[in-house]
Order: sequence, then C-alpha cells, then structure tokens
Amino acid sequence: MSRGRKPILLVTGGARGIGAAIVRLAAKAGYAVAINYLHAANEAHALAQSIQQQGGLAFAIQADVSNEEDVVKMFKEVDQHLGTITALVNNAGIVDQKARVSEMHLDRLQKMFATNVFGSFLCSREAVLRMSTQSGGHGGVIVNISSIASRLGSPGQYVDYAASKAAIDTLTTGLAKEVASEGIRVNAISPGIIDTEIHASGGEPDRVKEAGPMIPIGRVGTAEEVANAVLWVLSDKASYVTGACIDVSGGR
Ligand code: NDP
Repeated sequence: MSRGRKPILLVTGGARGIGAAIVRLAAKAGYAVAINYLHAANEAHALAQSIQQQGGLAFAIQADVSNEEDVVKMFKEVDQHLGTITALVNNAGIVDQKARVSEMHLDRLQKMFATNVFGSFLCSREAVLRMSTQSGGHGGVIVNISSIASRLGSPGQYVDYAASKAAIDTLTTGLAKEVASEGIRVNAISPGIIDTEIHASGGEPDRVKEAGPMIPIGRVGTAEEVANAVLWVLSDKASYVTGACIDVSGGR
C-alpha cells in the first residue's frame, strides 16, 4: 500500500447485506471502494452516492462474478476508475431452496459452485495478478466470506452450499500459502447466522427470528459484526494473519 494514497478495495456483492456493511465501514476507514453488484443496481448506486456525499471515494460496478469475461472487465474498470486494488473481499454468494442431496439437479449445483466458488477463484486470480510483488504490484489482502456451514454440512437443507463454502476454505488456505511470499495475505471470515435477506432466498424467512436459542450467545449476528471482523483482517493489525478461517458465529 503506497503512502498517502487511499487503499483500494473491491467488494463483490457489495450493494446489500454483509457486503454493504463492509463497504460502509471500509469507506469510513478511508478505503476507496468499488461496489460490485449483479441485480441491485439502485442499492449499489445509492450507496456509492452516499459515500461520495460524505467525502469518500466509491463507485458501483455491475458484473456477474461467475462470468469470466465480466470479472476481467470489472477489474479493468476498477484499474481505470480507482487504480490498482490493494484489497478484495469475495463476498458475493447464493443459497438455493432447502433440499436433500437426492433432490439436487446438476443445474442447481452448477449455479451454486459457479457463483460461490468459481467467482471467488476468478476474482482472486485477477487480484493476485495486480497485487503480487513478483509482477510489480505492492501486495494486498484478500478476504473470502465463507460460512460455518463448511464444517456443519447443513444436512437435509443446503449440503451444496456447505460444500461450496468448504471449497472456499481450501481456496483460502491454499492461496494464502501460494502467495505469502508475494506480499499478499488471504483469509476467510466464516459467519454463523446473520440477519440478512439470504435466508428468505433459501426459503427460510423466519430463520433469523427462530435461530437465537441454538446460538450460544443467544441471538443471530448483524452484518456490521461480520464487517468489523473483515475490516480487522484487512488492516495492518492483522499483518501476521494469513491462511486463517475465522468464525464470527456467536459461538455456534
Ligand atoms: P444477501 O443475499 O443479502 O447478499 C448476497 C449478495 O451476493 C448480493 O449483494 C448479490 O448481489 C450478490 N451476488 C449473488 N450472486 C452474484 C453474482 N453472480 N455476481 C455478483 N454478485 C452476486 O446475503 P448475505 O449478505 O447474507 O451474504 C453475503 C455472503 O455471506 C455470502 O457469501 C453468504 O454465503 C455469506 N454468509 C451469509 C450468512 C448469513 O447468515 N447471512 C452466513 C454465512 C455466510 P445483487 O443483490 O446485486 O444480485
């Protein structure tokens, strides 16, 4: 990170939920932020505008992280608008309706892995190409948003989602070791149950209301609580932390 310049962060799926909370905190902390969205154009542009009105630097950028051409184009646009990124948060993710593995068709599995896994691989590739000190970059930090489901397995519900997040954990530990000598740290944050709209898209709109008693801390988490952990991992306070998967789950 060069002195006197704002650190430059790209957050995928940054217009809503956990991604938007990360964008807001990062802008407050002085990052110039690229806010990626797929469908939430209004939310993304409104968020960028509110950051600009408060004197920050932000812009909204549409791209499907599962589409290689979109990802390559998005990183080039970030280069042009903000400069070479120093931080990436792979946050974009989906969950499908509750189902048993015996009911899961290939198209569901392909969409799940294309978004949650391939999207994170493609964005990480583009980030590493720019950050690596071996290719003239100045280093950087990648944070992958995983889930404690990667270890719980989500039986009878979302085994496909859990398996995609397990792949994210392996991407995190493998890539961290691969690029540690190139000035890049890679970590994962693994949320438990967080109050966002993702539960409605998984067919469980009441999950947030009902989940409290099964969580040791006694309540679900907020997007801001996840964002706080992400901002810490992005910061130099975590300078010796790489390859880690850190739970933000209320002890679940
Ligand atoms: P939301 O449903 O609120 O947000 C999902 C985000 O992902 C949206 O911003 C959406 O963009 C984006 N997105 C989805 N597909 C694509 C794509 N192909 N390309 C670009 N962006 C895409 O969910 P959360 O905020 O809860 O989830 C954020 C992350 O946190 C996910 O990875 C999720 O798996 C993880 N997580 C969430 C937990 C929870 O309890 N909430 C628990 C554990 C992990 P758009 O709206 O523009 O379409």
